[in-house]
Amino acid sequence: MKQKIIALSIAMTLSGSLLVGCQSPQQTVTPVQATATQSALFEQFSTQFIDALWQQYPTWALYSGNHINDGKLVIPNAKNRQQQLQFADSQLALLAQFDQSQLSPSQKIDAKLIENLLTSGKWQIETFKSWQWQPSQYNVASGFAQIINGSYASLEERLTAVLERLTSVAKYYQAARQNIENPTLEHTQLALMQNQGALSVFSDQLISKAQDSNLNDQQKVLFASLVLEARQAVMSHVDWLTKLEAKLTQDGGRSFRIGSELYEQKFTFDIQSDLSAKELYHKALAEKQQVLSEMAKLADTLWPKYFAGQDKPTNQQQLIATVINKLSAKHVKREDFVTHIRAQIPELEAFVNDNKLISLDKDKPLIVRETPKYMQGFAGASISAPGPYDKKANTYYNVTPLDNMSDEQAESYLREYNHWVLQVLNIHEAVPGHYTQLVYSNMAPSLIKSLFGNGAMVEGWAVYSERMMLEEGYGDFEPELWLMYYKWNLRVITNTILDYSIHVNNLSKAQGLSLMMDGAFQQKAEAEGKWRRATLSQVQLTSYYSGFRDIYDFRTEYKATQGDDYSVREFHDKFLSYGSAPVKYIRELMLNK
Ligand code: ZN
Ligand code: ZN
Repeated sequence: MKQKIIALSIAMTLSGSLLVGCQSPQQTVTPVQATATQSALFEQFSTQFIDALWQQYPTWALYSGNHINDGKLVIPNAKNRQQQLQFADSQLALLAQFDQSQLSPSQKIDAKLIENLLTSGKWQIETFKSWQWQPSQYNVASGFAQIINGSYASLEERLTAVLERLTSVAKYYQAARQNIENPTLEHTQLALMQNQGALSVFSDQLISKAQDSNLNDQQKVLFASLVLEARQAVMSHVDWLTKLEAKLTQDGGRSFRIGSELYEQKFTFDIQSDLSAKELYHKALAEKQQVLSEMAKLADTLWPKYFAGQDKPTNQQQLIATVINKLSAKHVKREDFVTHIRAQIPELEAFVNDNKLISLDKDKPLIVRETPKYMQGFAGASISAPGPYDKKANTYYNVTPLDNMSDEQAESYLREYNHWVLQVLNIHEAVPGHYTQLVYSNMAPSLIKSLFGNGAMVEGWAVYSERMMLEEGYGDFEPELWLMYYKWNLRVITNTILDYSIHVNNLSKAQGLSLMMDGAFQQKAEAEGKWRRATLSQVQLTSYYSGFRDIYDFRTEYKATQGDDYSVREFHDKFLSYGSAPVKYIRELMLNK
């Protein structure tokens, strides 16, 4: 109710100011007064928009570090979807009342981000309908874990929120089961695995934590019984999913391939690039050939060092594969995987500082940890960063240990993440990749940009930082590192080709594995994992290449405009200061267009 009143009062203020700002058509100079008013009103609008959004999406707020409504677990039912649509329509109507030409450049971007966010949300509910066919959307664990493991409030405050949240778990899963209709087998299996993992959150340890806290006796009793109920609700859901999986395995389910039309639409919302998905796909096909020819030159250079006196393969693909295969044998032991990554972070920071590449914030420590159980099953390494509201919270570098792999799987995985590629991975995930970018993103002047970041910019930055580090001399231009880097870069390019081909061109699994293993020199475990990921997500795999190309090409353009004044650190610091906005808009701001 509160949010409606605020929205209404802003709407009235806006229409009032628009009348005042309506100048004669001959006027060419923007009236200063009107601009100032529109700017100030837009700031008000942004603030109320975020407040209203957090009322509508309390769990999203929680992830973003806004803890006003932690106890509320939204039941994902039809009524809630209706509320989401009404929310989007009313906010879009408010946004439409602004004369965007009178906003500051930074605000213009914010307006576009808000519009994209709301339109995309509507499209998700009305057209894409993943709430029906992706059972993996439903899992309560990470929200609970976020509160339990957080350090933003006292234990008692957090446990009180957990207590309130626990009362909705059973209803949440009931609504989930009502929503699910003609799901894919793949998303059902993922849901099954991750909900099994969810049980670890509702543990006896959690009950003990409440018992040892300063909650009152009544709360403690309630807490223990609600944790048991939640555990029961998750187990029932797991049972239901198990039966569903068996049924789908036998009868077949919806195809995970979304087809050309939905793919282009999702690409427009998620990537926010000037290119279409199809255009990017063709760009990737061409770049693949260039990278392969660079790799052939490097393999040729390295041949005498590793294969002295042996005949060199005449086939380019075979030459590259043979050298890569040889180099891949140099890798850490499986039990040292996490420790080794932990040791490398300070070395990367030293290189960035010594070479004046980016200004790093020394007050934001990065903690390398084993990926929590409920998060495992998707990627091997990832960053969990605090949102802009709790900048003091820990940033984690999650690394999944190889404990659950067979010897053969582990060997294949380690050959993929060998001595050289592991360095590139750490650049990408940590310094100066995701971790560094997210620290900047949280400092960005506009809350809108740091909250509703563009995935292609975020992934593109991490990929760009790999190339940048090597070009600046990280690894002393060692040909082995460059060859392995190109292999990794080829993977990014292949991700785009693979994702588009799977969802639009009906690529089979055998063809997909061949594209990665024969075409991009990947190991089997990695290729299998990527195939799985491409069946569970759509478009996201293209964000790496799309963002990378946009940033790299923009840097070349920017350098030319700066002449002798160009400094790589100045470019990076400035580029990152806008937060995670789409590259095309950062470009407009930096070039003052
Ligand atoms: Zn080995
Ligand atoms: Zn990444």
